[in-house]
Amino acid sequence: MNEEAIQGLKPERVWHYFKEISAIPRGSKNEKAVLEYIKKAAAAMGLKSKQDKVGNVVVFKPASPGKENSATVVLQVHTDMVCEKNRDVQHDFLKDGIKFNREGNFIKADGTTLGSDDGIGVASLLSLLEDKSLVHGPIEGLFTIDEETGLTGANHIEPGFITGKIMMNLDSEDEGVLYIGCAGGLDTTITVPVKRKPVTGKVAVLNVMVRGLKGGHSGVDINLGRANALKLLTRTLMAIDEKVKMRLVSLEGGSKHNAIPREAEATIVVAGTDVSTVNSILIDSEKMFKNAFATVDPDVKVVVEKGKKAKPAFDDKSKTAVLNLLNSLPHGVIRMSSDIRDLVETSTNLAVMKTTAAGVTIVTSQRSSIESEKDMIASHVASVGKLAGAKVRPSDGYPGWQPNVNSSVLAKAQNVYTNLFGKEPAVKAIHAGLECGIINDRVGGGVDTISFGPTIIGPHSPDERVAIDSVEKFYSYLVEMVKSVS
Ligand SMILES: [Zn+2]
Repeated sequence: MNEEAIQGLKPERVWHYFKEISAIPRGSKNEKAVLEYIKKAAAAMGLKSKQDKVGNVVVFKPASPGKENSATVVLQVHTDMVCEKNRDVQHDFLKDGIKFNREGNFIKADGTTLGSDDGIGVASLLSLLEDKSLVHGPIEGLFTIDEETGLTGANHIEPGFITGKIMMNLDSEDEGVLYIGCAGGLDTTITVPVKRKPVTGKVAVLNVMVRGLKGGHSGVDINLGRANALKLLTRTLMAIDEKVKMRLVSLEGGSKHNAIPREAEATIVVAGTDVSTVNSILIDSEKMFKNAFATVDPDVKVVVEKGKKAKPAFDDKSKTAVLNLLNSLPHGVIRMSSDIRDLVETSTNLAVMKTTAAGVTIVTSQRSSIESEKDMIASHVASVGKLAGAKVRPSDGYPGWQPNVNSSVLAKAQNVYTNLFGKEPAVKAIHAGLECGIINDRVGGGVDTISFGPTIIGPHSPDERVAIDSVEKFYSYLVEMVKSVS
């Protein structure tokens, strides 16, 4: 297993440290042991380190003789990993180390996440801190906690914890690509109060459901144009409401703020004599959606089943307010970047709806790589909520990392890459969170930042694997970058 898997792989010390930290359980919010390991390793290298209240560790590697006046560079990684496993695998992420194998050009775990995100970054940083042969300026090696489930470490870095004004984040997943920006985000929760009235007469209770959508990540998949189950259900309900007298009992749909909703369901009440009309509307809706989303969501279904005995249903005013609100709330890409090709700059996800005693609660999530545009789309969503008479609650959110195509570190990074590998690197930004924007914000701004990493396929899933040849390229590039900024 682990020992044989890395036998003969280069750079030897990177794989050595990867093996070492893989033996230490380090799921998000369980980083204590790996941080102890890092502090001990730094001490053994003769390097000073310090730890802040939340747990982040910084290791100081003083400049080589004659390089004391060079700019300080921060090399940043996160120490936690996502814990996912296949259903048939016995693995306790709190106790067991990660077991992995070599499969051709890949290292892959045995039915669990591998933790190469960001374990290769951690191992590479340790290897670089250890290397006494390197000529470099002052280095601050920053190891953060809990990137994956809350960006907690980045969010709590104290001003002054790091001092460098150049930062290299080693947590992206495509060798040959330099990342220069990411999105910031926040959630906006909207609660519409609902008044109910009893249901009387000969009625049918129906559960109308939208099923079979692909969904996806609300950041990196938002540009794919996939259907939103909440939107399709709303359109279906409005079509029914136009034709027959419909009462609304409840609305449910979506699961997470950062996922495009795949399923949604409404309980409605109609006159027993209107059921066949409703059925034909559902058939028409499904046909219409299958046509409109033929390429991206071919398996969309609108289905109905008999519901349980009717509880009091929304009064007409509440029903109209809720349906109009859901119909008006924006979803999807709001603007593409004018500076970076194919980058979504601003988006919003209509994510979750739930019916409670108080009313209907709707969770939405906004992202943008430009701070003012994040505020703009959040305020747009809030206004729509207020027009429906709803209570609107924005979360604190986190800042993005606005791409700077004129960054001097970027120019250097492009040069170094081209000289080393004889071809130009791609330059991209991603429409999801990295720690860079937050760290920059926490330490007062002005940190010229770039992100790069080895090629990792299927991160956050048990399919996660890291390309062996890309680790060697990534590490030699990292070493050259550290030299070039000193
Ligand atoms: Zn990561």
